Amino acid sequence: MSETALKTRIKALIETAGPISVADYMGLCLADPQHGYYMRREPFGTSGDFTTAPEVSQMFGELIGAWCLEVWSGLGRPEKLNLVELGPGRGTLMADVLRVARLDPGFCAAAHVHLVETSPRLRSAQEQTLAAAPLPRTWHETLESVPEGPTILVANEFFDALPIRQYVLASGNWHERVVGLDRGSGDLMFAAGPARLDTAGLPEDIANPKARGIGDGAILETQPVANAIAGDIAARLTRHGGAALVIDYGYERTAIGDTLQALERHAFADPFANPGEADITAHVNFEALARAAREEGAAIHGPMTQGDFLVALGLLERAGSLGSGKDVAVQERIRDDVERLAAPDQMGTLFKVLAFSSRCPAPRPFPG
Ligand code: SAH
Repeated sequence: MSETALKTRIKALIETAGPISVADYMGLCLADPQHGYYMRREPFGTSGDFTTAPEVSQMFGELIGAWCLEVWSGLGRPEKLNLVELGPGRGTLMADVLRVARLDPGFCAAAHVHLVETSPRLRSAQEQTLAAAPLPRTWHETLESVPEGPTILVANEFFDALPIRQYVLASGNWHERVVGLDRGSGDLMFAAGPARLDTAGLPEDIANPKARGIGDGAILETQPVANAIAGDIAARLTRHGGAALVIDYGYERTAIGDTLQALERHAFADPFANPGEADITAHVNFEALARAAREEGAAIHGPMTQGDFLVALGLLERAGSLGSGKDVAVQERIRDDVERLAAPDQMGTLFKVLAFSSRCPAPRPFPG
């Protein structure tokens, strides 16, 4: 198979300017204005590359809609509210949220929807999905242009799409992992670059890998972009009140390991095979996200697993009422969707939910 246009360009770039960081590689694959994955491909659904929770079932977004109403009450029902979503995909989650939220006229009068989306193609998909929505809405390239004020924010499978940095242990030191060219074949390959990780403030085993028996070749990841965005969100919540819900696949404690993954048509792929045509993501470090938010003064809730979170919000009751009076095939489909969202061997455990909130007012973003 011939290589993608983006691969030809990345190889030429490395040829002239030298190896690039994993973060730059990810950024080019996902967001290159001409050939980036989110700019061109239809990622979602059975014919796409992956299926997200809101695309599995309307119950996911409806429960989050109920969550939004709860949090708004906990904030003292502010008269003006920013309802923000980061990376809204096809707009399905927000449409389901609004179907529930519109049950409260006070909420509808207060809320303005802000959608943060970099892809013009997905933005028009969102415009279509939300065409009949009862609330005013505005699109933004980044969170920065969303006005300040009391905020409820949701981000499902957004943080995994942000560029990570990787470090590889070589001769006992963490060197930034880069993407270069194989001298023989001319193909893309990973290498250890000259830059070294600043280990100040890192957990002891990671700062001193040798002492802990971590061998050369081990990979460590950092997520500076994700942490910066979490910090920005937290600072807004601290200033004006509000809560944010982050749902994603990831890990709860900083650990060694390579989680960079490419996904094409629902199967793992080589991240160098078809840049721009495969989704490329990394697992989210929830400990680091929580730390970034805490440093900006937010209260941290969780993380808890998606399965526990949805069940606590009433997933089983919602499934029961959705299926009541329907035929057996529909009821079976709803049961399958519940399994898919909440069972430990499906999305229930790999996906985590982390909330940050203002301390004053102090909404209670976690059930129970
Ligand atoms: N939340 C949706 C889509 C997840 S896919 C769902 O659950 O179905 C990731 C989404 O984030 C896409 O809409 C993608 O275009 C968007 N995105 C990726 N990087 C972004 C960035 N840096 N800023 C804003 N949106 C981004």
